[in-house]
Parts: sequence; structure tokens; C-alpha cells
Amino acid sequence: MRVLVVLCVLLVVAFAKEDFVGHQVLRISAIDEVQVQKVNELEDLEHLQLDFWRGPAQPGSPIDIRVPFPSLQPVKVFLESHGIEYTTMIEDVQSLLDEEQEQLYAFHTRASSTDDFNYATYHNLEEIYGFMDMLVAENPQLVSKIQIGNSYEGRPIYVLKFSTGGNNRPAFWIDTGIHSREWVTQASGVWFAKKIVSDYQVDDRLTDFLNNMDIFLEIVTNPDGFAFTHSTNRLWRKTRSPSPGSSCVGVDPNRNWDAGFGMAGASNNPCTETYHGRFANSEPEVKSIVDFVTAHGNIKAFISIHSYSQLLLYPFGYKTDPARDQSELDQLAKSAVTALASLYGTSYKYGSIIHTIYRASGGTIDWTYNQGIKYSFTFELRDTGRYGFLLPAAQIIPTAQETWLALQVIMDYTKNHLY
Ligand SMILES: [Zn+2]
Repeated sequence: MRVLVVLCVLLVVAFAKEDFVGHQVLRISAIDEVQVQKVNELEDLEHLQLDFWRGPAQPGSPIDIRVPFPSLQPVKVFLESHGIEYTTMIEDVQSLLDEEQEQLYAFHTRASSTDDFNYATYHNLEEIYGFMDMLVAENPQLVSKIQIGNSYEGRPIYVLKFSTGGNNRPAFWIDTGIHSREWVTQASGVWFAKKIVSDYQVDDRLTDFLNNMDIFLEIVTNPDGFAFTHSTNRLWRKTRSPSPGSSCVGVDPNRNWDAGFGMAGASNNPCTETYHGRFANSEPEVKSIVDFVTAHGNIKAFISIHSYSQLLLYPFGYKTDPARDQSELDQLAKSAVTALASLYGTSYKYGSIIHTIYRASGGTIDWTYNQGIKYSFTFELRDTGRYGFLLPAAQIIPTAQETWLALQVIMDYTKNHLY
């Protein structure tokens, strides 16, 4: 009977949602500029409805593309005719989604405290917002919730503040989930929040940190997109604002910042995944952070967390010039990824955005760095492509744990190098 109920729920949910039956994710290895250019051309063929999960990048680094079933044949023919090699990274996207849904329902219990909360499963917006309220209620001296704005669809945007006192202390910012489909990031954000309250006054390192600095943590940075990944389309990346003159919805909130806005490394086509929007800060999800950071004025490190690829990146993304602090950022990144790897051996690459992945304009940490926040980094969490955005829930806690080790390196370094 229980199985039947679960099945019925799954069916109802399945019918309301966009399905990805027969969609594959191809990993393409373009070996030179000509081949990269050819793959780029695919993005402009709108009728193929391709979804670039990773890339187009420098020759040699992989480009991952989700290809709908009807487009598989033409895409494969195109690649083969240009001598471009590819492998099938995900055989059937929908079967991974089905597994994820089963896991979601099997472990779905409402927590009455943050101790009962299941950190090893994915949660929807309501559950995460409920978690935040419980955390604040349980730790009123340490945690408070600040509403920094509203999303396009009117959802409140919250930041958790962890503070042991003082007045506008130097602060460390972490955001997760600005791209809504990167579910392991919001799940890691939830785990970080619990980790902070658990370790305070228990772990000397964190206690000392919190006696000197505040932490701001925005777990659901794109709430409209996140709600949409649960209700309708698991693979939604962008915001949910409409574009006048187009039927396509959403702006890439990591191309909407006022740093090289609209330059190469973003798209002016509202139907692409990297659409930069009509003007910088057009998205309230971005503008809310800009206003908060500007008003605060004492944020010393800014960490924006994405998935996937296992990278730790620093500015710039919109230009090839090295950041003024490049050698220091590079050293710090190296220490952080070394700490990360010490737990489970997970290997990260690090470097500037433009040299490590690809040119990307209007990105978060380019803006924060240009504002004078020296320790500005972006993480791309697990994995390197086996599951991509559909990382199994069993990997949430290990991912959060290892990432926390890297964050602690940056936190301690920042505290010891206040400027
Ligand atoms: Zn992302």
C-alpha cells in the first residue's frame, strides 16, 4: 500500500514536470580553437534546444552538453563530420532524475529541530526556510535571519548572520545556489549553517574566528529558480524574470553583475543559459546582494559556491589581466584545495576564472573583487561530470565536509590578514 501511494505521488509529480526521457549528456573534447568554435556554433542553433552544462571552454577542457532525444542524431552527425570526439557522460537524464525523486520521497520526514533534520537528502525551499527558522530559534544569541530583498516572483531572500557581538565586525560572506539546479550547493549551505552552531564554543578554531568576525550565509540565493527546479524543471539555472519581446524566461544571475557587464563571456540572447539581462543588477536577486554588501562596507571575503567541476577560482572572468593580488590568491587557493583533498582525496584545480574555465563576464566575484573585497573566490563543487548537477544525495555530506575544510583555510587566513 505504501509503495502504491509513493508510486502515485511520483506519477502525479512526474506529469506536472518537464521530462528528460532519452536526453543524454555528451562530453565533448574539442582539441583546438577551430573545434571549440564549431561547438560554439551549436549553441546558436536554437531548434536543437541544447543545454550547456559546462563550457565552451579552452581547447582540451571538456564541454558537457545535455542533448534532447530528437537532437541526438543531428548533434552526433555534426560532431563526427567535424572530427570532434565525444563520449556519452549520462546515458539517460530522466533515469537519474527518477532515482533522485525516489530518494527524495523515501527520506522525506518533517524535522522538528535542526538535530532531526536530514542533511543527507535534498530539500525544497519551504523545508530549507523552515530549517533556517529552527536554527535561529535554537541559537538566538548566535544566529539571526536578515531579509535582504524579494525575488522577482516576490519570495523573501534571506541571509543568516552568525555573530557573537560587536558592531559591524569584519565579515565573511558565503552564498550557495545562485544557479538553482546546483542542488548540492544549497544542501551544503544547510550543512555549513548547522556546522557553525555545532562547533561554536566546541571547536577553538571556529570559536576564535567568530570572536573576531561575523559570517553571512545566503543558502537559497535564487529562490524562484530553486522553487522551479522542484515544481517544474529540475534543470533550471536562471532567475524567473520575463524578457520583454521574448518568450524565454530568466537571466543568468552570474552574468548580471556590474563587472565587465555585457562583454564577451555572456549572451545577449534571452533564450540562452548565459543571458546577461537587460542591464547590470536587473535581477533583484543580484541587486539585493549588491545593496547589502555596499551598505555593510566591511566584508573581507566573499565566497560564491557553484557546482560542478571541482574548481576553486579567483578573479578575473571578464578579462585576462591578472588580479592585483593574484599571487596571494593563488597561494591561498592552493592551501584551501590541499585541505579539501585531505579528507576524501577529492582533487580540485584552481586558478583565475578566465584561465581555468572560460571567459565569463558580469560574474559575482569579479564585482566583489572590484569593490575591494580581496578574498573573493568561487567554488565549483563535486563532481567532475559523472552526475554533474544530479549528484546523488549520498554525496551531500562528504561534499559539504570537505568544502568546509577549504572554507576554514580561507576564513582563518582572512582573519589573520585583515585589511
Ligand atoms: Zn553555477
